[in-house]
Amino acid sequence: METIGHHPVSHPRPCSVAVIGAGPAGLVAARRLEAAGVEVVVFEKSRGIGGRVATRRTSDGLAFDHGAQYVTARGASFARFLLDAQSAGLAIRWDPVVDPPRARFAEGSTGGASTAEPPGWFVGSPGMSSLFRSLASPLTVRYEVTVTMVDPTDRGVWLVADDSERGRRRIGAFDAAVIAIPAPQASAIAGHLPTVAETLASVVTTPCWALMIAFEGSRNLPAEVFRPADGPIAWVARDASKPGRSNDSTTLVVHATPEWSRDHLDDAPDAVTAHLLTALASVVGTTLSAPTLVAAHRWRYAQTTVPLGAPFIAAADGRVLIGGDWTTGARVEAAWDSGEAMANHLLGA
Ligand SMILES: Cc1cc2nc3c(=O)[nH]c(=O)nc-3n(C[C@H](O)[C@H](O)[C@H](O)COP(=O)(O)OP(=O)(O)OC[C@H]3O[C@@H](n4cnc5c(N)ncnc54)[C@H](O)[C@@H]3O)c2cc1C
Repeated sequence: METIGHHPVSHPRPCSVAVIGAGPAGLVAARRLEAAGVEVVVFEKSRGIGGRVATRRTSDGLAFDHGAQYVTARGASFARFLLDAQSAGLAIRWDPVVDPPRARFAEGSTGGASTAEPPGWFVGSPGMSSLFRSLASPLTVRYEVTVTMVDPTDRGVWLVADDSERGRRRIGAFDAAVIAIPAPQASAIAGHLPTVAETLASVVTTPCWALMIAFEGSRNLPAEVFRPADGPIAWVARDASKPGRSNDSTTLVVHATPEWSRDHLDDAPDAVTAHLLTALASVVGTTLSAPTLVAAHRWRYAQTTVPLGAPFIAAADGRVLIGGDWTTGARVEAAWDSGEAMANHLLGA
């Protein structure tokens, strides 16, 4: 039977857990479980940690935070984590010049406890994914393994996976599995479990086209961060304005609006690049000739517009938990809270 969030544990505390996804939700779940003495293996389809909290590095030394731009903490747990990351030099406060001013920003979050004070913006250093480096370092993470199915049986929860070297096969059984990936991707690997697909179908996520642009020397831009009121662009940030980044080039990250990204989801990257560069030139009111680098990245499941409304889904008598930011919001802290809730559930805490 499938249930949603905060239900009593109907099984003994697991000795071994597979965590699928090395984004913030998966990493915090894995770390909490490992700290409690559970044997944990994290399976990640890409070559690094962080998920959508990502930094793209180019061969000539440029770096772009093309996913999450900054994080904020409203609840105590994520705030504590950020303080520790700050002490370790992995998180730094970012106070950019913002247009329109920050008080008029809608964060679009439905997750976490709210506070009256506007929260500070923090970025990872030297890149966004660095935020989670110390969380991941003690963990066993198997990279470039795409889990394609979880199969709960009497002898444990089996994982079927594809990896570049050995193809598709069963890769082992665990007492429980934590699936910490975007809802549509979770549906692909756990949607065969009773009612999981229907429950996940209630969650709505939007895509985002991201553009990474570099110019030689400085460019006169109206602000370090700006959010145009209309048009296809939702967000422009001068990446080099973030602390700990090289200031040699003007590096920009541009995010298209959810609507524009949805309407142009299957466009070729070249067409997306041309359209957004033209829109950017009109936003900044100047010609932006001769960028030294332009690259487009499509985030198919960028942000949640309709969340689940509970911190996770429990399936297979509580041996398969499914979570991520989409459970309660669209922010890193929602992913954090979901990952912690899944670990606590398995530990009976
Ligand atoms: C363009 C953009 C801008 C954003 N801006 C902000 C912001 O400014 N502030 C903010 O707080 N949040 C922002 N977010 C949202 C933030 O990135 C997410 O809330 C957060 O990353 C969610 O964490 P997660 O662990 O739930 O999932 P993810 O970060 O998506 O991590 C999931 C991981 O699972 C892996 N994976 C997926 N499927 C499989 C599989 N089958 N097998 C193995 N591994 C798999 C993925 O490779 C990924 O590493 C933004 C996101 C995007 C895309």
